[in-house]
Amino acid sequence: MLLEGKTGVVLGLANRRSLAWHIAAAAHAQGARVELGVANERFQEKGAPLAEELGAGLPVICDVTRDESIQEACEEFGRRLEGLDFLVHSIAFADRKDLEGRFVQTSRQGFQLALDISAYSFPAVVRFAEPLLREGASLLTLTYLGAERAVPNYNVMGVAKAALEASVRYLAADLGPQGMRVNAISAGPIKTLSASAVKGVQQKIDLQARMVPLRRNLSGVDVGGAAVFLLSDLASGVTGEILHVDNGYHMLGAWPVES
Ligand code: NAP
Repeated sequence: MLLEGKTGVVLGLANRRSLAWHIAAAAHAQGARVELGVANERFQEKGAPLAEELGAGLPVICDVTRDESIQEACEEFGRRLEGLDFLVHSIAFADRKDLEGRFVQTSRQGFQLALDISAYSFPAVVRFAEPLLREGASLLTLTYLGAERAVPNYNVMGVAKAALEASVRYLAADLGPQGMRVNAISAGPIKTLSASAVKGVQQKIDLQARMVPLRRNLSGVDVGGAAVFLLSDLASGVTGEILHVDNGYHMLGAWPVES
């Protein structure tokens, strides 16, 4: 029970495949009280039974494109939970047409949209949630290797993730003096609603399972476990870190011959 007595919020639930769900379920299993955030009414309705499984209230709508929505969501979380020991941001979006073909074709509008929802939203959410955060709170977001390397079709989302990773470091520097930690998990590919928007993701998943040192697909449980570690006091000295949870793919220098 690594999170016994802790309360927190996980934003970005779409369905049972969401990394947000895996993280929330893992945190709950380790004793945490968790409330959930969703983008809109459709996901609020879909997420209601999932929230019930965790003993949480109706998922709270937090549309990160609007400051008022973030503020209202934080007020609601404040009413439900006295304070937050952790906050997980598991949110990203880019126009589907910007997740295939050549990056050079990305429109100004597509670039701004991806950066707004997938990167700016993290510091924005933290700003509104700050009054609720307890000393020692742990903040977490989700990123991908496409921030560090050019990955086919990931395109503008890779640029957004690079901005998100830099934001992790700046937030960690800002909040560290209050004893708060800010980290990211760089997860390998897992088939979710968002991941399906990236052209060729299934082939990438199949290929990586044959290449990675651990020779298997990554699961939501792998990500949930690493998240529990970062949210728990076991990670009390870890901040500003990007933890790769990808079965070892990120450190390969070349593909194994047999793959
Ligand atoms: P997911 O289940 O589709 O979750 C993404 C969530 O972001 C959805 O609930 C989505 O809601 C939400 N979102 C989009 N626009 C929003 C907005 N304006 N306000 C609030 N929420 C909004 O997919 P996921 O794979 O779990 O993604 C979670 C995070 O993990 C993302 O940051 C993603 O980049 C990251 N990640 C995923 C993988 C992977 O392979 N799955 C790997 C590395 C990192 P809508 O459906 O309404 O847009």
